[in-house]
Amino acid sequence: MAGMLYLVPTPIGNLGDISQRCRETLEQADFIAAEDTRVSLKLLNHLGIKKSLVSYYEHNKAFKGNVIVERILAGETCALVSDAGSPAISDPGEDLVRQCAEAGITVCAIPGPCAVITALSISGQATGRFCFEGFLSTAKKSRREHLASLENESRTMIFYEAPHKLLATLEDMAQVFGPERPISLCRELTKLHEEVVRTTLGQAIAKYSENAPKGEFVLVVAGAQPIEKEEATAEDASGMVRRLMAQGLSRKDAIKQTAKELNLPKNAVYDAALAIEE
Ligand code: SAM
Repeated sequence: MAGMLYLVPTPIGNLGDISQRCRETLEQADFIAAEDTRVSLKLLNHLGIKKSLVSYYEHNKAFKGNVIVERILAGETCALVSDAGSPAISDPGEDLVRQCAEAGITVCAIPGPCAVITALSISGQATGRFCFEGFLSTAKKSRREHLASLENESRTMIFYEAPHKLLATLEDMAQVFGPERPISLCRELTKLHEEVVRTTLGQAIAKYSENAPKGEFVLVVAGAQPIEKEEATAEDASGMVRRLMAQGLSRKDAIKQTAKELNLPKNAVYDAALAIEE
């Protein structure tokens, strides 16, 4: 019988955030696949768990993924952990989940700590619709292209960022979104020096130009305000009907098209166009 793959989230700062279910899964797994075995060993020592560890990270995942899948198919249960937070979210795991699913292996994700959700919930920004953008590229050109593609994004946008790149990223964001765009900078979540700075991009730039940022950050940026279209008037409608008829459309088709384009009821356009001769 095939084993299983468990995705086990670990604390993003506060060790008290490891759940009973995660603890039990780590205890009961046959082996643990870890992003950095030294980091995970510290957590396992803290939990008093002794277990065989294998490394699974960006640069060995192509080869190690196959080894892990073979072991699971042979009947072993694997618990996958990353350095902190939920595996597979801007962390190794995405490929292993896909490989296991393709091999018919059952994958079980245990809910738990995740920086993106923790930041969104504390940000004070709109939470109804959001998009997670992960890390921006370190290359200036692709970072700017990525941000430019979000210029009209109306959902709340969430980014991971390293402190040494924060200022450059805020400056690029201000170029695209404008300095007045609200942002919540969620720093050192669940840790002793947890801090949420709810401000604007311009003010954040001023703040971190004076004091270099330290610690881990999630940036939660407000989406673009929808552009309110002014309602079309009867004059706009008759003008458009006139133009369309001059282009050769019948009166009926011109009214139909005008109503559609100006988002007006057909009878309102008809009334506005009464005086126009066929
Ligand atoms: N998979 C992880 C998760 O689910 O939380 C995220 C891993 S990603 C490699 C690491 C990034 O997550 C950091 O650069 C930072 O942007 C964010 N992060 C992790 N822990 C954090 C914390 N305690 N406070 C703020 N941001 C954190």
